[in-house]
Amino acid sequence: MIPLSLETIAQVTQGALNNIGHEQAHQLIIQSISTDSRKIDESGLFIALSGERFDAHDFIADVKDKGAIAVLVNHKVDVDCPQVIVKDTRLAMGAIAQHLRSLSQAKVVALTGSSGKTSVKEMTASILRHCGETLYTHGNLNNDIGVPLTLFRLTPEYRFAVIELGANHIGEIAYTVDMVKPDSALVNNLFSAHIEGFGSLAGIAKAKGEIFTGLKEQGTAIFNLESHDIPQWKQHLTERQTQWGFSLSEQDNADFYPTNIVVNQLTTDFTLHTPEGAVEVTLPLPGRHNIANALAASALALSVGATLEDIKLGLSTLKAVPGRLYPVELTAGKIVLDDTYNANDGSMIAGLQVLSQLPGFKIFVAGDMAELGKDSEKCHREVGIVADKAGIDSVLTVGNYSQFISQESQGGQHFTFKADLLAKLIPLLQQHDVVSILVKGSRSSAMEDIVNALKECF
Ligand code: ATP
Ligand code: UDP
Ligand code: MG
Repeated sequence: MIPLSLETIAQVTQGALNNIGHEQAHQLIIQSISTDSRKIDESGLFIALSGERFDAHDFIADVKDKGAIAVLVNHKVDVDCPQVIVKDTRLAMGAIAQHLRSLSQAKVVALTGSSGKTSVKEMTASILRHCGETLYTHGNLNNDIGVPLTLFRLTPEYRFAVIELGANHIGEIAYTVDMVKPDSALVNNLFSAHIEGFGSLAGIAKAKGEIFTGLKEQGTAIFNLESHDIPQWKQHLTERQTQWGFSLSEQDNADFYPTNIVVNQLTTDFTLHTPEGAVEVTLPLPGRHNIANALAASALALSVGATLEDIKLGLSTLKAVPGRLYPVELTAGKIVLDDTYNANDGSMIAGLQVLSQLPGFKIFVAGDMAELGKDSEKCHREVGIVADKAGIDSVLTVGNYSQFISQESQGGQHFTFKADLLAKLIPLLQQHDVVSILVKGSRSSAMEDIVNALKECF
């Protein structure tokens, strides 16, 4: 963290000091911030948030004992330690993050989208690492708590930061992007993910487009030219900002596009075209959707100073992210693509395209896609139709809505329990010498249970 005095923290959060005077608060330097009493750094500030299960104001005495030197709270707490009292600790956390960002010299890129945010984030960070010290979102910390926690990690050494922004509701990205103030911003794509919180695809487009409202005055806006909402988003932009488009198709007049695509089983080769020239790229990841992700990452990286050589190097040294089309070899000839981290209609279809390129007997094991609201049955049926057309030999589903996937595919079979699905799946694996399996479902479906059970069997 960039060190701040407690006095500065009180100022930027419009908080009142308790148990400490202004002069002492000026001398008290905060070196780190925590929101979890189970992970306290000495000399740190503890911010008390209240969540669904706990109100962290209950842990103030505990965090003082563990070495926190000050706390940020929404009411006076009867514990003898320096306190900053604010109206809303969550908003105060955002204000501190915004201030820290304003002190940093780093070039910051921010990205959102329905799918591939974490993938693009990893790719962009992998490229920028070759240009200088790069901070990037840990895991999936992309919401109103995760984004400030990421910005708290900024130190003067960082030359770049890559920040993932997620949205469950309108206004969330407007809030987080305001603290990130990116030099470049991207909407990777739009699918029906989390549609329940937005009402419609138009609502999702509006929510994601909020990322452009926080873009720096001379920043770069990056669009996927397949998105229908670009004209609407452009209303947030001015002439001083650069606009770049990327597309898998050469015909779209894109600034970033691929040619000479060779899709291998688990890797992809292509020529990457950019406004600064072309470069040959080998992506150690499967699927056309990862080429689109690589275009987006290249645009983000190039916009803040990466060279074509950095891009080539950064993309070629990528590793698959666990749970995202992560190849697991059970035994020779039997490969599972572990894509169990999450699912929506777009990512299920992307996964099926990859499976269709893999050798041997092809099995799709699908759980439910959650949060699709009234479109749920339709989206599941569409995935089933795609699986059928892609020539998948066996489609095994478990859960509730996923039955609509198996109903639409000839090789489809639905199960209520995972144990029953495994009782069908394991013999299928034994009958065929070469088998490729895609396992996928929303987070709530916990389809990793299937992958783990397979790993134990083989
Ligand atoms: P979350 O909203 O959960 O944070 P995310 O947007 O960060 O997700 P990833 O974690 O990168 O996305 O990938 C999630 C799933 O989407 C994976 O199954 C991955 O294979 C798939 N996916 C990644 N990129 C794309 C893309 N461009 N188009 C469609 N599907 C994609
Ligand atoms: N918390 C904590 N110590 C604990 C349990 C929770 O400091 O032993 C904090 C937690 O880090 C979070 C807040 O209390 O900042 C609310 O916790 P909860 O689990 O309810 O939050 P949720 O993640 O469900 O919103
Ligand atoms: Mg993510």
